[in-house]
Amino acid sequence: LLRLEGATVRFGARAALDSVDLDVAEHEIVCVLGPSGSGKSTLLRVVAGLQELDSGRVFLDGRDQSGVAAHRRGVGLMFQDHQLFPQRDVGGNVAFGLRMHGASRAEQDVRVEELLELVGLPGASRRTVAALSGGEQQRVALARALAPRPRLLMLDEPLGQLDRSLRERLVVELRELFTELGTTVLAVTHDQGEAFALSDRVVVMRDGRIAQSGTPLEVWQNPVDEFVARFLGFDN
Ligand code: ATP
Ligand code: MG
Repeated sequence: LLRLEGATVRFGARAALDSVDLDVAEHEIVCVLGPSGSGKSTLLRVVAGLQELDSGRVFLDGRDQSGVAAHRRGVGLMFQDHQLFPQRDVGGNVAFGLRMHGASRAEQDVRVEELLELVGLPGASRRTVAALSGGEQQRVALARALAPRPRLLMLDEPLGQLDRSLRERLVVELRELFTELGTTVLAVTHDQGEAFALSDRVVVMRDGRIAQSGTPLEVWQNPVDEFVARFLGFDN
């Protein structure tokens, strides 16, 4: 479904992404791990069409995406800070992703309620976003990202602001949800436990490069070098 070839993004002298090659198959759930500044968000932005490449290419379904606008790529992106509209109600936020795709008002209302049920917030449509808890807001952001039925959903720290017990519960729910919908997922997290519970494959990044890619078990059992081993916490 997704292929990156030699994807490179430079900010001044520094490469935020450095010749990254990556394939993501249809229905696969891939988690990107790595320290702060290793290029995880940049990787997602490049695929979403929000960040131009200095060199290399992005393919979706085998088609080169250079020059294809973000909203025409059929991918969903949930940002690290989720960027909801705090003054609007929940329904307005979720419907935002639908209006962009030309759905009628009645279609929007039905679809919004479906999506809210899906993320465990049935009937929350009229509530104001600013009055929701952090976990509820992240569910709203997820519903908004799912609204246009993206084939590829990219999540940047989707559970970032939540406490451990809520994260652990949501991660299981998310995995079931994505499997049910057949959504291909590329998710960034800095939490290894989350990556291992959620994903079919993990990709560990370091300084804009992919240090290792494999099933959670492979990476856990055979870290490719000391950096990966340390990052996974085998440093003592
Ligand atoms: P974090 O875990 O903190 O979110 P990250 O892995 O997502 O980190 P990126 O946001 O992809 O990291 O950033 C990679 C590198 O590129 C960092 O050194 C960052 O400072 C730099 N960078 C990212 N965006 C820009 C920008 N718009 N202008 C200049 N430098 C940038
Ligand atoms: Mg980031």
